[in-house]
Amino acid sequence: MFQSVEAAPPDAILGLTEAFRKDENSSKVNLGVGVYKAEDGTTPLLKSVKVAEQRILEGEKTKTYVNPNNGTAEYTACVQRMLFGDSSDIVDAGRAVSAHTPGGTGALRLAGDYLRLNHAGATIWLSDPTWANHGGIFADAGVPTKKYGYYDAETYALDFDRMLTDLGQVPAGDVVLLHACCHNPTGVDPSEEQWNMIAERLAERGAVPLIDFAYQGFAAGLEEDANAVRVMSECLPELMVCSSFSKNFGLYCERVGALTVVASDASNAANVLSQVKRAIRRNYSNPPAHGSLIVTTILGDDALAAQWRGELKEMRDRINGMRRLFADSLDARGTRLGRHGNGFIVDQKGMFSFSGLGPGQVKALQSEHSIYIVGDGRINVAGMTTANMDGLCDAITAVAGGG
Ligand code: PMP
Repeated sequence: MFQSVEAAPPDAILGLTEAFRKDENSSKVNLGVGVYKAEDGTTPLLKSVKVAEQRILEGEKTKTYVNPNNGTAEYTACVQRMLFGDSSDIVDAGRAVSAHTPGGTGALRLAGDYLRLNHAGATIWLSDPTWANHGGIFADAGVPTKKYGYYDAETYALDFDRMLTDLGQVPAGDVVLLHACCHNPTGVDPSEEQWNMIAERLAERGAVPLIDFAYQGFAAGLEEDANAVRVMSECLPELMVCSSFSKNFGLYCERVGALTVVASDASNAANVLSQVKRAIRRNYSNPPAHGSLIVTTILGDDALAAQWRGELKEMRDRINGMRRLFADSLDARGTRLGRHGNGFIVDQKGMFSFSGLGPGQVKALQSEHSIYIVGDGRINVAGMTTANMDGLCDAITAVAGGG
């Protein structure tokens, strides 16, 4: 059986990490994989998480399955409060149901399974470009995908006209995947006004948004970053959200996330939840508990929650500080990545920047300077530190040319 199997093509981003690990240059820099790094180059274990884990260790009495299999009531309530705020008519009316999933990826795959099983014929529309894994997740779940315009490679900004025009072609009953904030890979997000117009366009079309929310708190703040979810839920009767707590709680390996579905009334929501639970049962049956216990322990304790919000702000502030230092350091060398300078780097949100560096430059940075960047020019700003910034900007100046 296995003799005819060919090796899968290497994953572009994970392959980069592998090459980085093997590189013996002591000043190597990894700006590839989407993981937050602190000033010392490590991915921190948050102090609030450690305190929560200690409490869990002391207090836990069983390792039985999570009950119900869509997550504990405490956890799904935490998920919904982060999405809709402390008081929400949608939550009060029972219109939102949530399922605890293994990370944001698990939430996306569960959404795909749910759509294939219950809404055959629905296509999911992805931004061009989008996170490299989106296409594969929905392909494997058997949900067809299409693209809508998003990014303008000339201006390094949102191509909003094309986006709205393309969304105007979406047939009723199709699903449109939107990045709530910190768009991966471009770092380019719609403005508040543009979110309203996107919501109106989807409402006109009868399309359903699926909001991928992997970076809540990394752009402007927990509440501010939920704007897209709030606008969509005000304008549209139905939506789906895929939450991930990998980045904002630093819980990458614990695999903690959620799929939330908002329906037009509580009875529809309950039916959807029963289908989601069935899809879970047939896929991974029951979610991994530990990460969700950390989230509920932190959010259930005011002091711990305040400590976590402080740690999240520290991560956000460091990324924004690195954006500014990167732009200033390039300016100081007379190196312009954008046609109009480097200001776009400061304007982009979250960990990622589309740098505008082309495939040849990306290759030269890796082979000549041990700087690892994804082939499309996506840079993880969180991989930058004050210590590696000068070397990085010298190398970019060498491959991109000054002025
Ligand atoms: N969506 C987007 C846009 C992402 O960038 C990521 C993480 N790279 C995910 C989903 C998945 O996150 P998780 O690690 O929680 O599966």
